Amino acid sequence: MSAPVPPLPSEQGRLEELYQSVILDHNRRPRNHRAMEVADGRAEGRNPLCGDEITVWVRLEGDTIADISFKGAGCAISRASASIMTTAVKGHTVAEAEALFERFHELVTTRTPATAELGSLAVFSGVARFPVRVKCASLSWHTLRSALRDGAAAARAQ
Ligand SMILES: [Zn+2]
Repeated sequence: MSAPVPPLPSEQGRLEELYQSVILDHNRRPRNHRAMEVADGRAEGRNPLCGDEITVWVRLEGDTIADISFKGAGCAISRASASIMTTAVKGHTVAEAEALFERFHELVTTRTPATAELGSLAVFSGVARFPVRVKCASLSWHTLRSALRDGAAAARAQ
């Protein structure tokens, strides 16, 4: 009997490797990772299951998320997700960010294939196979939603 031939990496395998490298890159060099001095909205989020903690700041211009930043401590998935979330919603309207969150949530909780509009968020498609990681991936989005509500409240109070 000859030695078994190792299988060639499948298309799916290569895609997962690419996704993994994007997540590791955002974890190592998170984008928009800073506290904001003057913000319209701010919220803190925690994922006690994993120990992830995050603070999200937003600055609004009308309905548009003009600036967004975060600081946090936690696992690679939560940090990378926060970093990619900030790049995905910056410059978009609050309604667009909400819609993106809905699609992202669907991606990580079901096995719906990623669509082009998800962009970099597609790297989290594998999370659906690990239910315990869903909270890590969606923590920053829930916190963004709270920060936007905080911002809306501040705007009404003016
Ligand atoms: Zn986590």
